[in-house]
Amino acid sequence: MAKVMLIGAGGVAGVAAAKMAQNPDVFGEVLIASRTKARCDAIKADVERRASEGRGAWAKASKAPAKVSTAQLDAMDVAATTAMVRDFKPDLVMNIALPYQDLAIMDACLAAGVSYLDTANYEPPDEAHFEYSWQWAYRERFEKAGLTAILGSGFDPGVTQVFSAYAQKHYFDEIHTLDILDCNGGDHGYPFATNFNPEINIREVAAKGSYWVADPKDDKPEVAVENRKAFDKGWWVETAPMAIKREYVFDQVGRKDMYLLHHEELESLGCNLKGIRRIRFFMTFGQSYLTHLKCLENVGMTRIDPIDFKGQKIVPIEFLKALLPDPASLGPRTKGKTNIGCIFEGVKDGRPVSYYVYNVCDHQECYAEVGSQAISYTTGVPAMIGAKMFLEGRWTLKGVHTCEEFDPDPFMAELGRQGLPWKESFDPVKVG
Ligand code: NDP
Repeated sequence: MAKVMLIGAGGVAGVAAAKMAQNPDVFGEVLIASRTKARCDAIKADVERRASEGRGAWAKASKAPAKVSTAQLDAMDVAATTAMVRDFKPDLVMNIALPYQDLAIMDACLAAGVSYLDTANYEPPDEAHFEYSWQWAYRERFEKAGLTAILGSGFDPGVTQVFSAYAQKHYFDEIHTLDILDCNGGDHGYPFATNFNPEINIREVAAKGSYWVADPKDDKPEVAVENRKAFDKGWWVETAPMAIKREYVFDQVGRKDMYLLHHEELESLGCNLKGIRRIRFFMTFGQSYLTHLKCLENVGMTRIDPIDFKGQKIVPIEFLKALLPDPASLGPRTKGKTNIGCIFEGVKDGRPVSYYVYNVCDHQECYAEVGSQAISYTTGVPAMIGAKMFLEGRWTLKGVHTCEEFDPDPFMAELGRQGLPWKESFDPVKVG
């Protein structure tokens, strides 16, 4: 049985810890280390209580409980993290803190000689911008050290890339277009709250929209293009934020407005899908969320640069985070479902193929099982599965890799067993 060090103690880390505890045959010992030890202790107490009750998905946990311990750690401190990893000697470090910590934790893993997994790609704190280049720069060092780094093992990124690898492996010779659709039909009753870390979430949705194309000559943009940037392979087409809007009717959720956003997995999928010509990412937002966001932007509350306030430096978005509801507290209030999936179009044996694969997840069912809403659940479960894949010797490619670079089949099988069953359709309604 394996030992895992889990860094972070927020909404997603809580779910990952719960799911690890439900699989004690793989995860024998878990150390939860984070900035605020009290939050680690709260996760440990919750996991141990649910395991001892042994209801439903917790049945195995009650028979052979995993050993859970906790520690205080500032993961930006590479020396302290390295020392803790050396002392605990885990088989894997799971980084479920924030994207700002990715590089520091990767450095500590290299120093201590332990493999690494995360759920979001690196973002510098002073620049609202995320891309894989910073973490891909570690490829050779991980390869040489004989270590594995699995990047972005959440839902999107994460499962969306596993869905892509699965589609490519089983149903297509070439995938030409991919639309990733992320719908949250849940209602928490607040006029404005974010479902995961507010700072990261607002930075993501306030950014310019962009999609990926193999060749800009084939692209007929429907709105003004602000910029076209060549990438290793293909191009980014950049628009104003939220400039491209669609309506879509989601299974078990209904009709929703969704908007095109930049998203990290487009970058790696553009490199890894055979024959791909265009990739877009859409996320649903309600009118109240958008109105509040626009107003907060207009008054400067989403700024990420420090300002002077009564002789003190404060970063407006960090102050805003302190005012907003903690995403981990939304669980009991959120009702409704999420529906996240991928629509592919391409060819197999010379014939056109359309394929839609998606998961529907119910906020209240997640809350009953692990005490969290579905956004943390749909991220924490794939984080645990990615770790399970590594620890069982199925995803052990050395170097730094995104989820579509591994065999999708065992991961897809686990999704169903671990609470995120998927559905497929070969005649989906296209996004247009
Ligand atoms: P939270 O803000 O709820 O939790 C983040 C945790 O990290 C907190 O416990 C925080 O500590 C801890 N932390 C922050 N800085 C440090 C540090 N320097 N050292 C140690 N611990 C630190 O975030 P979420 O749980 O909502 O999100 C976790 C991650 O998952 C994020 O990277 C997010 O981007 C990603 N994510 C990925 C998704 C996907 O589908 N791939 C979807 C949703 C989220 P403290 O308790 O003191 O604040």
